[in-house]
Order: sequence, then C-alpha cells, then structure tokens
Amino acid sequence: MLPLIEAKKRAEAHSAEELAWLCRSFVAHEVPDYQVAAWLMAVRWQGMTESETLALTQALVASGEVLEWPRDLRVVDKHSTGGVGDKTSIALVPLLAAAGLTFVKMSGRGLGHTGGTIDKLEAIPGFQTDLEPDRLKRQVEEIGCALVAQSPTLVPADGLLYALRDVTSTVDSLPLIASSVMSKKLASGAASIILDVKYGSGAFMSTEGEAEELARAMIAIGRGAGRRVSALLSPMSEPLGMTVGNSLEVQEAIEVLHGGGPDDLRELTLELGSRLYAMAHGHPHIAAASQTLQSLIDSGAAADKLEQLIAAQGGDASVVGNPAALAQAPVVRTVAAEQGGWVTGVDARGVADAALLLGAGRVRKGDAIDTRTGVRLLARTGAAVERGTPLAEIYAAAEGAAAEAVRKLLSSVTVGEEQARRAPAHRAID
Ligand code: URA
Repeated sequence: MLPLIEAKKRAEAHSAEELAWLCRSFVAHEVPDYQVAAWLMAVRWQGMTESETLALTQALVASGEVLEWPRDLRVVDKHSTGGVGDKTSIALVPLLAAAGLTFVKMSGRGLGHTGGTIDKLEAIPGFQTDLEPDRLKRQVEEIGCALVAQSPTLVPADGLLYALRDVTSTVDSLPLIASSVMSKKLASGAASIILDVKYGSGAFMSTEGEAEELARAMIAIGRGAGRRVSALLSPMSEPLGMTVGNSLEVQEAIEVLHGGGPDDLRELTLELGSRLYAMAHGHPHIAAASQTLQSLIDSGAAADKLEQLIAAQGGDASVVGNPAALAQAPVVRTVAAEQGGWVTGVDARGVADAALLLGAGRVRKGDAIDTRTGVRLLARTGAAVERGTPLAEIYAAAEGAAAEAVRKLLSSVTVGEEQARRAPAHRAID
C-alpha cells in the first residue's frame, strides 16, 4: 500500500491493476484503514485522470455481485445527486415501466438535509424496500420495475470506502464521488442511465460549474464502460415541488402520475423520463418520447403501474387512488408573511432544516424519522404577498416542534420589494 500512497502523493496515476488490487485487498481486510485513509486524502488533493477514475469504478464494481438481465429487456436507471423535496423517482419508475422499459431503482435513505427515496416509500403502509434477490427478480419479470434499498451484495468496496471517507473528510473529491455513484449504476446492470446533478444551497455541489464537472466525469465513466448515459444539471436553491417530508412527498409524486403536481416537479420528471426513454430506444427524439410518456399519464397507465408496484412490495396500493389516506401529522400550523412585497427566495437548505426540526429527516445514521411530518410551501419565488398571506404549512407531531419549525421557515423565505425570478430550469449535458 505504501508505494501507492507515495505515488498518489506525487500526483502519479495508478494502473488499473493497482486499483483492482487496492479494492480487493481492502474488502479482504488485508490493508489497514489508516493506509487507505492516507491514500484517500492523497486522491482528494491530487485527483485522478479520466482513465484512472474509470479503472477505479471498474475495480469497485468487481468487488461484488453484478446484476444481469435478459438481453431482450431495455434496462434503465437514474441517479440524482440528492436534494430537498426530490421525489422524482417515485413517479419516474412506474412511468417508464408503463412505457415498457425495465426499471430497477436502488435508492438510499436520507441523511442530514437531503431526503432519501427509501424513507419516503416507507410512508406507504406496509411497503417493503428490502427484497430477497429471487423475489426482486420475479417482481421485475412480472411488472417491469422495483423500488428497493441498495443491495449490500453490490459494490461492497464502495460501502467500506464511503464509511472511511465520511470520517476522514474525503467525501468531497470529484473522482471519488463519480466512481462511487457510477459503480452502483454499472453493477445494477442498466444499459441506459440518466443522471440528475443538482446544484445550489440544497445540493452537494454549490455551483452549476461544479455540477457540470461532476456530470461530465460520470458520463465519461458510463460511456467508458459501454453504457448510454446523459445528464441534466438542475437547480436546487429552492426545494423541488411544494412539499418536503415523506408522506407529503409521496402524495405529490402521486399527483404527478395523475397529471397534476407542481410545474417544476412535473417538468423535471418528464424531461428525465423522455431522455431516458429516447436513450433506451437508441434515438434522439426527446419531444416524441415526452408525448408518449404524457399519454401514459393521461390514460392512467402510469398510476396503475404505481399501484402494481406498491402491491407487489406489500404496500397499501389504495393510496394511489386516495393519497389523502396517507397518515398526516396531528398539528398543522400556517406560516404567514410578516410583510408585503414579492417572495425573493425560498432557501432549500432552510426548508430542509425546518423539516429536520419536525423529525422528517435524520441527523445521525439510524435515527428514527416521523413520516407524517414536513412542510408544504404555499408561495414560491416571484409570488406577490401581503402581510398575513400564507407562505407555508407546517405538519408537526407536537406544538413545540411546530413553533420552532415556523421560526425556521420564516427565516428561510425572503420577501423584498422587487419581483425576483425563479432559478432557470434544468440544462442537459450530452
Ligand atoms: N453518493 C454516493 O453514492 N457516493 C458519493 O461519494 C457521494 C454521494
């Protein structure tokens, strides 16, 4: 291990064999954590070349199982770098399965200010996210889709490396993030992959430039491994959609499948979906793909597919027809504008922190969360408000938490004298 640490300290590139050895040896506990930690810090400062990053990704993939699907299936996948109010996967997976694609989406739990799809799904009574491999395979053969927790047998080296990065301040390294994300996408066996790379106060990457750099690194890895990949850069300075919190977000995703929902969420879902649909069919006709997906929403086929998915995973599928039946927190408080003017910003990070105060997210791994709680925004940037106009509703388990969240929310929504515009919508990187 020492020559590898020294080489990286001098900014030299590793060979594919060296990286394969490193991942193998780390998983086999043949090299100590402290040496791998030193190597991670050297990578954090010196970076990696494009071919090195691809080789590291392939070494990570080789550390575990790789899912294989019958050749006649068009298997697709999606990754979002995470944000506030991002519930697109819950609408996208059934929508694309209704369009005949195979979509096995493995997701994570939320930590800190970013939400996780698995927590959101657990707001649906009975919904199971840990499926045995045989059951997962059967379900995918029968209905074309699944929404499950990341399998521990895929890319175990990433799990170990990530845990070490988390405690050695080496998460924020572009080649380490890109290889970590893409290793999981490659191992899940998808031929076409869409990436939603977020930037802004509620995202991992604060600027659009950083997001583009990460998107390009991940596209290069995917294409280097023979997959079709494209990416959208999407703003995350405000939450996506109007809700943050697990039950509320599931309700909003269901609204999208019924043809409603907030514009930004509907547009992002359709844009990700049409790009993925076009890629999976090997053609560039995004507008035609979008029409196909819209017709599946209009006919009710996409909502029917979500019902099948929830029923297959043990959940109460009646929530698709009656989203209001999802459990709601007992205390609901309205947050009113303290002055008149225009809403000039709804800070994603601040809204996420308000939701955290309500117990909708977790501060530490393993914390319990309350899926009933959260925030529903009633005004967004650009809205005209008067003193007393409702800005948001707070859904809380108790009065004390509600009062704290109201204060946090008020400090996250700014009202000024000049009308402001919302951040521009997503931008594609091909
Ligand atoms: N998400 C991942 O899966 N890996 C990273 O390194 C960062 C975010």
